[in-house]
Amino acid sequence: MLKDSNCGELRKEHAGRTVLLAGWVNRRRDHGGLIFVDLRDRSGLVQVVFNPQTTPEAHKLADRLRSEWVVRVRGSVAARPKGTENPKIPSGEVEVHAQEIAILGESKPPPFYVHEDEAVEEALRMRYRYVYLRRPRVVRNLTLRHQVVQHMRRFLDTRGFLEIETPILTKSTPEGARDYLVPSRLHPGSFYALPQSPQQLKQLLMVGGLERYYQMARCFRDEDLRADRQPEFTQLDLEMSFIDQEDILGLMEELFTGLVKAARPDKRIMTPFPRLTYRQAIDQYGTDKPDLRFGMLLGDLTSVLAGTGFQVFQQVVAQGGIIKGLAAPDCGGYSRKQLDDLAQLARDRGARGLVTIALRKGPESVDALTAADIQSLAVRHFSVDEVKEMARRLGAKPGDLLLLVAGAPPVVNAALGSLRQEMGKRLGLLDPDLMAWAFITDFALFEWSQEDGRWKAARHPFTAPLPEDEPLLESDPHRVRAQAYDLVCNGFELASGSIRIHTPELQERLLMALGYTPQEAQERFGHLLEAFSYGAPPHGGIACGVDRVVMLLADEESLREVIAFPKTQMGTDLLFGAPAPVRPEQLKEVHLKVLEEALAPPAPPVRPTGG
Ligand code: ASP
Repeated sequence: MLKDSNCGELRKEHAGRTVLLAGWVNRRRDHGGLIFVDLRDRSGLVQVVFNPQTTPEAHKLADRLRSEWVVRVRGSVAARPKGTENPKIPSGEVEVHAQEIAILGESKPPPFYVHEDEAVEEALRMRYRYVYLRRPRVVRNLTLRHQVVQHMRRFLDTRGFLEIETPILTKSTPEGARDYLVPSRLHPGSFYALPQSPQQLKQLLMVGGLERYYQMARCFRDEDLRADRQPEFTQLDLEMSFIDQEDILGLMEELFTGLVKAARPDKRIMTPFPRLTYRQAIDQYGTDKPDLRFGMLLGDLTSVLAGTGFQVFQQVVAQGGIIKGLAAPDCGGYSRKQLDDLAQLARDRGARGLVTIALRKGPESVDALTAADIQSLAVRHFSVDEVKEMARRLGAKPGDLLLLVAGAPPVVNAALGSLRQEMGKRLGLLDPDLMAWAFITDFALFEWSQEDGRWKAARHPFTAPLPEDEPLLESDPHRVRAQAYDLVCNGFELASGSIRIHTPELQERLLMALGYTPQEAQERFGHLLEAFSYGAPPHGGIACGVDRVVMLLADEESLREVIAFPKTQMGTDLLFGAPAPVRPEQLKEVHLKVLEEALAPPAPPVRPTGG
């Protein structure tokens, strides 16, 4: 071994001991005479002192050291002189008096300092990932990730799950995204698809009698990478036979309660995890991934304003739209500029506009409000009674600000959902120490695709309908609810799953309802339909986004901070320079030709996204 101790673990009780350390020069300070080197390895830092009097050889070498050089040091641990302790680092009460040093690897001046916690531009972070990985924050995140995955494995092992790998080269498994394709050399013109998830494979494992499966599964989805997404990501994927929805939800609650306790004992959680149906979530929060750390629920005002003289609202209601709102506590004094910002946010989410009504602070209660207490650009359109009734429905009090949006339900909910989250943030209601987990259930089985003019599976097409809704499959697809559930936390969807169809008859019926011809159904899913005809157990499962779980537990805002080698928001790998053209012979081998027009415009330069 080139080392026998870890820098960050040395303490007062080690004083007097001779240690062999190896690591990186975090920082070197020359105090004319003594040279101080902060030596860093994965465990942290320790200060090493080189003395020209006692160890002239070592001191001479130390003089050459620069940031990020790799060295090995032999020295003795000593308590730091009184008054020079550094309480900011765990080894700050000691230092190592160097006797010998060897240079193991030199470094060019680094693209950024590891020791400084200053923000580093994203492009640099990605291009020099191996330097960025040395930052304590990244080490901490990857260590946490390791602990999370180990916890999951141990927990599932005690519950009788088998960890089973499934192929990466496979056939398309639809999860609503585009497939990544891999051309076949041996079968010209044919392609493998990388799995969007191991969905069908895990179901086949259940048909194969394995009963309880899990895997840390890599999933690939070729999506436009809006927001914080990665084209490849990791799911804790699991599937069980002979269970119902309650068994899966119970298992998840136990897993995540234990995980938070183990990984972040300082975080609070609410148990049992609250349950909301999809309908309730949309009605009250405007989203199916509600942040339950605070209230500020949305309220439906359509009936209150049914007879309104406000023409914009009249039109919306006549066209089958809705009017909803929320009350932002104590925001009645918002400035014009603040209100404009909120209106812009509503428009960004597709709303045509935002109506705001400020209730003056002062009156005892909403019942005591008079016309003089109501301030709004739309004030002349509403009677005082209408405003009072709105305020009551939204749970407002004098001093609050009412935010109203009218339009088609999806637009209204999306806009108000975002406004609610924004107000939560502004008002400091997003308690960082609270993890508000919840299950969302009773999702719709189908959703209408405007683009294709047909019903699509809201998730994958293997999700079972609620038994009582089965008769509606053909006649009223929009009314069919699925045995599907999500686990959400603080506004993020962290897991998603369902009870599956396990008879060929029902699976075929569902595929027909989705518009597949019997022939198409055979072509795409014949293997699954056939498997179901050889004795399939009732089964169901769920998949949790490991990257996102770690991101929340690490208090990070980007997935890229908890993945060792992430891609940029443009889906590129700046370290390897991928994706990249390949040699013409390679293309030939796989029987492919790149279209001239695809090559025409040079690829746009990678846009650093910062943050
Ligand atoms: N395969 C699904 C997904 O990736 C999860 C599941 O239904 O188990 O979202």
